[in-house]
Amino acid sequence: MNANKEPMLVGRNVSKYFGGLAALTQVDFEVYPGEIVGLIGPNGSGKTTLFDCLSRVQTINKGQIFFKGEDVTHKKPYQVAHMGLARTFQVIRVYRQLTVLENMLLSRQWGGLGVGKLFRQYPASLEARAHKLLHFLQLDQLTHEAAGTLSGGQRRLLEIGMALMPNPDLILLDEATSGVNPTLIETIKERIKDLNEKQGKTFLLIEHNIQFIADLCSRVFVLDYGQKLAEGTPQEIMNNTAVIEAYFGAHEGGEDD
Ligand code: ADP
Ligand code: MG
Repeated sequence: MNANKEPMLVGRNVSKYFGGLAALTQVDFEVYPGEIVGLIGPNGSGKTTLFDCLSRVQTINKGQIFFKGEDVTHKKPYQVAHMGLARTFQVIRVYRQLTVLENMLLSRQWGGLGVGKLFRQYPASLEARAHKLLHFLQLDQLTHEAAGTLSGGQRRLLEIGMALMPNPDLILLDEATSGVNPTLIETIKERIKDLNEKQGKTFLLIEHNIQFIADLCSRVFVLDYGQKLAEGTPQEIMNNTAVIEAYFGAHEGGEDD
């Protein structure tokens, strides 16, 4: 299916150690333009660490990362952000005292301009973009509310909006459905689908909600103890005995993070 396309994101032998702990060991993967790919695995298997490495928040010990054909292994976070890579965080990072709109405007500063720019005048075009995205995410009623008053799901939507402000091509979402009620999970799912189908945005999703994965993703990677355990369609992954043992087995103990 992807025979004619160059991958948008490539990891080769990606290894990351925290002292003696191997958080990632020789992980290989590709994400192609226009795909929605799932990344699953038990708690502590290295999923967020992989996002940290891809968004360059963490350096890697071995291996290489390519984005849009360019070796970005040693680039800074703002450099890959400028190239069109955006992410959200497992632990939501919004400024609770600031309004929804201010959070959207500030997110532009992920490009490296700094928080000090918050109180200057923003270009009208930037505000217009923020309003358009808030409408798209069904947050327009909350534009002038403090972000701290939003529900968990609304804050996830706001974080997605903030990630979309610089108009990225690839969006990494870390547990976008965690702490979100079923109605808003549907909204998040629809919006991702729309961004993918109508705007060609590419997604890599860390997700524990298997139905969400099955509904959105064409392919899934599974990490276990920092290694790639399996790769396939959601159906293949759900029927893979090793995955069931590693992933679903590990969750029976009622772990959470
Ligand atoms: P997941 O997102 O799959 O739950 P993480 O990537 O958060 O897993 O964690 C993978 C492993 O790396 C865990 O053992 C975790 O404790 C460890 N780890 C993650 N970040 C750090 C860090 N900054 N310093 C030390 N250890 C870390
Ligand atoms: Mg995580």
